[in-house]
Amino acid sequence: MKKRRVPTTNVPIYRDSGFILGDLNTIKKAFKDEKDHFRSPENYIYSRYRNPTVVAAEEGIMAVEECKWALLTQSGMSAIDVALSIFQRGDETRPWLFFSEIYGGTNHYIDRVLIFRRGVDIKRFYPSGDQYDLKELEKMLDKLKPEFVYFEAVSNPMLVVADCEAIIKMAKEKGAAVIVDNTFATPYLWQPLKDGADIVIHSATKYLAGHGDITAGVVCGNDLQMEKDAVEYRKYTGHMLSPDDAHRLGAQLKTFNVRMERHCSNAFKLAQMLANHKKIEQVHYPGLKTHPTHEKAKKLFKGKGFGGMITFDLKAEGPEKKLEAAKTFIAAVADYIPLIPSLGNPETILLHVESVWGDKYRLPGMIRLSVGIEGYEHLEAVILKGLEQI
Ligand code: PLP
Repeated sequence: MKKRRVPTTNVPIYRDSGFILGDLNTIKKAFKDEKDHFRSPENYIYSRYRNPTVVAAEEGIMAVEECKWALLTQSGMSAIDVALSIFQRGDETRPWLFFSEIYGGTNHYIDRVLIFRRGVDIKRFYPSGDQYDLKELEKMLDKLKPEFVYFEAVSNPMLVVADCEAIIKMAKEKGAAVIVDNTFATPYLWQPLKDGADIVIHSATKYLAGHGDITAGVVCGNDLQMEKDAVEYRKYTGHMLSPDDAHRLGAQLKTFNVRMERHCSNAFKLAQMLANHKKIEQVHYPGLKTHPTHEKAKKLFKGKGFGGMITFDLKAEGPEKKLEAAKTFIAAVADYIPLIPSLGNPETILLHVESVWGDKYRLPGMIRLSVGIEGYEHLEAVILKGLEQI
């Protein structure tokens, strides 16, 4: 009887660790193709190399990022590791230039893995005040001739939007490749590859998956040699995402744009409300005219929104009272807005800034909100009630 394909919009979860290769000719061809034609549809050998469920989810990412390839990994950190491997060629490698205002975990990875364990020549570019001075960047690029420049579009927790287009243009003119961690902005607001970046990485744990129930990462690009290098490194280091997580991520990606629209609109309304509230000293949100990088955000995100993250400082006399205010607020909203050290969840979650970034930001009254996609009225009512308790 002829096999009939079941019509479905979902790819099954292929949990096979290895795939049937049948006979000796097939296995020989498979291992040969695996090196040069790894994208051939029949080329499934072993799930650490390539898995049909993972490939289907990667196609979902390629659709939202509008790029030629995407490789899923088990976390955002492993996506960073895979992305950087593309540029590592032993002693020939030129220095790597990282902007300093990036995710803390990435900064620790740089210190403890790249520098301490692997001896990579790393240089950091620091901002002058709360913004980067591109004239200084130009001087560094001329002096160091780095292999690549690595930065994040939106900083954390102050939500400063970088001069992304200018940074990419300058780095490329000076012969450096560009890697962007676009976890906070997401492809909904900005697609760095279209502006000339070589590689984009995401912690897909956050907005791409968007439900707080997966740890995953992705590396995206257009250059096919870079893809080949990254595929090889992912295979040998075993940074592959599991088929179960890939399946869930693939389904969650179908609502990505709608979710982002709602994250952005809820955050925009909430930021306006907070900015006018008597118990709030300052609100950091790129959608507010008072934010130092509001104009940059407007230009880069082309009116689609300003993201789902808001950081605000509670008003009180002195550090002790500020800390007390933060504790009271966090306890008052805990049933609806839990303290969870992550972001991009469907429900609004929060983080106390000093508890996480205490060495850098001695700001006891500061709270970072990852605004969810729940009904806005309910969310506003919970926050107002929490502020009333202070
Ligand atoms: N990049 C950014 C901007 C992040 O915020 C995070 C995690 O919070 C990561 C990378 C690392 O991602 P993961 O936790 O999925 O490994």
